[in-house]
Amino acid sequence: MVSETKTFYLAVLPGDGIGPEVITEGVKVLRAIEAKLGDVQFVCQEFSVGASEYLRSGDPLPPETFEQIKQCDAILLGAMGLPDVRWPNGVEMTPQIDLREWLDLYGGLRPIRLHHAEDCPLKKYQAGAIDFLLVRESTEGLFAARKNLAALDAAEACDTMRITRAGSERLFRLAFQQAQKRRRKVTLVDKANVLPSMAYFRGIFDEISHEFPDIETERVYVDAMALYLVQRPHTFDVIVTENMFGDILSDLAAGLIGGMGMAPSADLGDRYAVFQPSHGSAPDIAGQGKANPIATILSVQMMLEWFGLAEGATLLGAAVEAVLRDPMQRTTDLGGTLSTAAMGDLVVQQIG
Ligand code: ATP
Repeated sequence: MVSETKTFYLAVLPGDGIGPEVITEGVKVLRAIEAKLGDVQFVCQEFSVGASEYLRSGDPLPPETFEQIKQCDAILLGAMGLPDVRWPNGVEMTPQIDLREWLDLYGGLRPIRLHHAEDCPLKKYQAGAIDFLLVRESTEGLFAARKNLAALDAAEACDTMRITRAGSERLFRLAFQQAQKRRRKVTLVDKANVLPSMAYFRGIFDEISHEFPDIETERVYVDAMALYLVQRPHTFDVIVTENMFGDILSDLAAGLIGGMGMAPSADLGDRYAVFQPSHGSAPDIAGQGKANPIATILSVQMMLEWFGLAEGATLLGAAVEAVLRDPMQRTTDLGGTLSTAAMGDLVVQQIG
């Protein structure tokens, strides 16, 4: 019997800085999975979005591009923004954040898993001992203030944290559902002792927790969480928090497993999804072949899972796992000598 080929249409947005370098490896690995599976086809169309697109056309995310990428089954994104390309209010171009808001991608899933003891700055942790999922709200919170106009010479500037009931309910349900697939514990991170918006956030968490009596819950203030992530990262399963706290804690969490180059992400909504490494455009290492592509490759794995291609996701995960088992096989951010492309090649070889 001849099995039918499934086709998936991908919008590929390499972006700025190291974005194009890591995306090349992500797509290379995706092609290896396509060849291995045999009954799946990925049709990739590239779009120019980001600070460099702003310099070219005056708009980092032109409306016609946005319309086209919405037609695709998923979006694979590198990194966006450059420190020297800014709006008049002083902030960087962040079309990746526009996409989260415009496509209503409220669930930022950021898995943190230690692949090898030597990648962890803490002494006592073996491979797999740190394994949690950070769920970052990605459409409101403190980031909702990012379009505020503040004159750089004004006497003061003010940003407001926006927390909605609907936004929080769907976020918490997603976090609890993720915990049901994992070790059944959700830790809420907030600042409910000081900020009324965060006390409100906690109240909604408490309500939603009653829908999931099988899940253990924990509530931690964000400052204490910075401490606990270093002291006892092994005790966390799913961590859920607002946008800005999630932004900060996901960098801290990435530091536990080797840095930004190891941390993948998926931004999920009810209809659309964007897959991208948790890191930014890393202009300090761009164009040198030094970027670690593992975060992007693992984001491709999350995309395969989201497509329901469990076999492909498992194959890819096992290939990364096998490559990282040898601590000599590392890019320079982790003290190794491999180039971005060489790391991608190793994963492709493992996929076979
Ligand atoms: P953003 O706010 O846009 O997410 P950021 O301020 O967190 O960005 P990054 O661009 O992620 O900054 O870079 C933070 C540090 O991590 C830099 O030193 C950068 O070189 C390093 N880094 C980021 N991504 C990678 C990668 N894929 N490989 C190696 N190092 C990386």
